[in-house]
Amino acid sequence: MERQTRQRESIRRAIQDADRPLSISEILAAAKGRVSGLGVATVYRTLKSLVRDGLIVQVEMPGEPPRYEVAGKDHHHHFYCRGCDRVYEVEGCTGDFSWMTPRGFSLEGHDVMLFGRCSDCAGRRPAARASGPSRSRASKTSRPRAGR
Ligand SMILES: [Zn+2]
Ligand SMILES: [Zn+2]
Repeated sequence: MERQTRQRESIRRAIQDADRPLSISEILAAAKGRVSGLGVATVYRTLKSLVRDGLIVQVEMPGEPPRYEVAGKDHHHHFYCRGCDRVYEVEGCTGDFSWMTPRGFSLEGHDVMLFGRCSDCAGRRPAARASGPSRSRASKTSRPRAGR
């Protein structure tokens, strides 16, 4: 395979394999493992051509560099983690925004960006929340750990 094609394919695959939109530096890090000698200029150039060809789309972020995801996904929105700068895909939609649309305006679409902290950055796993407040360990009886 021609070098340029290989680079393009590795960048496309990096975005496809991620389960969330990636930034340029995330794409560079992910694609570097697949093709050697990849630089940020090549990533920029390749992303531009992938967007032009309709294979990936740019996810616009207010006050943040854009992220990239594969084109043609179902309608969805994003969650931006302020802790680690990662952007996650969120399923579903609150739906009809026509009630917010000023009278006489014609609504053509919407974009919703949630932000906050992901489960890693919030310091708790989603499963841990269901178990209620954790009790401090009352009993201090230390059991010697059985070595294997
Ligand atoms: Zn995070
Ligand atoms: Zn929506």
